[in-house]
Amino acid sequence: MAILKMSHQKSQQIFEAAQSLMPGGVNSPARAFGSVGGTPLVIDRGEGAYIYDVDGNRLIDYIQSWGPMILGHKHPSVVASVEAALTKGFSFGAPTEGENELAELIIAAVKSVEKVRLVNSGTEATMSAIRLARGFTGRDVIVKFAGNYHGHVDSLLVAAGSSAATLAVPNSPGVTAGTSQDTLILTYNDSEGVRQAFEQHGSRIAGVIFEPVVGNMGCVIPDREFLQTLRDCTTASGAVLIFDEVMTGFRVAYGGAQQLWEITPDLTTLGKIVGGGMPIGAYGGRADIMDHVLPAGKVFQAGTLSGNPIACAAGSATLRELRDNSPYEYLETLGDKLTSGLQQAASAAGQNCCIQRVGSMMTLFFNPGPVRCWEDAAESDTEKFGRYFWGLINNGIYMPCSQYEALFISAAHTEEDIQATIDAARSTLASL
Ligand SMILES: *Cc1c(COP(=O)(O)O)cnc(C)c1O
Repeated sequence: MAILKMSHQKSQQIFEAAQSLMPGGVNSPARAFGSVGGTPLVIDRGEGAYIYDVDGNRLIDYIQSWGPMILGHKHPSVVASVEAALTKGFSFGAPTEGENELAELIIAAVKSVEKVRLVNSGTEATMSAIRLARGFTGRDVIVKFAGNYHGHVDSLLVAAGSSAATLAVPNSPGVTAGTSQDTLILTYNDSEGVRQAFEQHGSRIAGVIFEPVVGNMGCVIPDREFLQTLRDCTTASGAVLIFDEVMTGFRVAYGGAQQLWEITPDLTTLGKIVGGGMPIGAYGGRADIMDHVLPAGKVFQAGTLSGNPIACAAGSATLRELRDNSPYEYLETLGDKLTSGLQQAASAAGQNCCIQRVGSMMTLFFNPGPVRCWEDAAESDTEKFGRYFWGLINNGIYMPCSQYEALFISAAHTEEDIQATIDAARSTLASL
């Protein structure tokens, strides 16, 4: 069990009360600290790169709501945009101009997206995208990769990453064999496996969904050959290639991983940053595919709160800020500094670690690496990671509470924050 030096009493009281109110005291398993032990910090407020817990501790935040807060907490232009939207009402279930604004921003930013549908979460986006792939092709099978996480969609909750990996429940009770039998699981970065799957099952494959930089088994980077194989095999067989950019969209580049890797998917799923911290998701892509969605086409998908005005206001303000004051070079500088600092600290401490990073998302694996797929990631020393995590918390650094999550740097982080993090990591790594 974790030894916490700072005061933690109020967090503990609130989390204790939460136990009888919500399953496990939380509304999403990743935040329950299940894999590192101990009780989570209960957060009171955020400001830029920092969060403050209910006991008054200030921490440098590398979770950033698991990605959405790329501008940091409470960015003034996002706050202003949300405040303006609030004065008009919260939801109408009818078209609003704000939806056009966010859709235009997405379409302008993400090259492959010609039309987009707004939904309420990343899970809804991936669920709808695979339904559309099946409806469009008239085929059943969806290919996914072990350790990739696409939300808690039944048929994708097989060999899933994120908290599913952490909690070692790759197949959740309640997901029927019938549901998952149309899901084909392959190994990430295994081009030969992809080619074989298409040779054997090509005519039944509706689509391939994957994370074009994985965040949900820790940060794992795709090979160029793997990406090209996915594009070539899906094109040749008429299957739909889906980039799940819920995490990478507007994170690794303004145009997402597809801009970085210069590969064009047929459909893209978005979430997280696209809502600027409000609940949102989106899926979009080729107009000829998107026009199969109701009411333009026959593939059913709906949502009472979809295109919510407040969420659109937060999302649009975030994207405008990212477009007009691009932080990506700055984030690369910070990411590079953090990587080399942590690498040096780990070497000095004699820890056999590998650090994998794309832009402002990265993971320090307690694993010599390189980590290229779930089997590699699973070799990590998660017990040591838990001690590293608590050591950092004690030094005011709030990192993802699992080896199998990526950390995020925001535009609000400073060089001093990064240096403070490296210093904290140096003493922590030396003590493990
Ligand atoms: C977070 C995430 C999801 C799920 O999004 P939710 O908003 O949590 O439903 C799907 N895919 C990827 C790649 C993600 O990182």
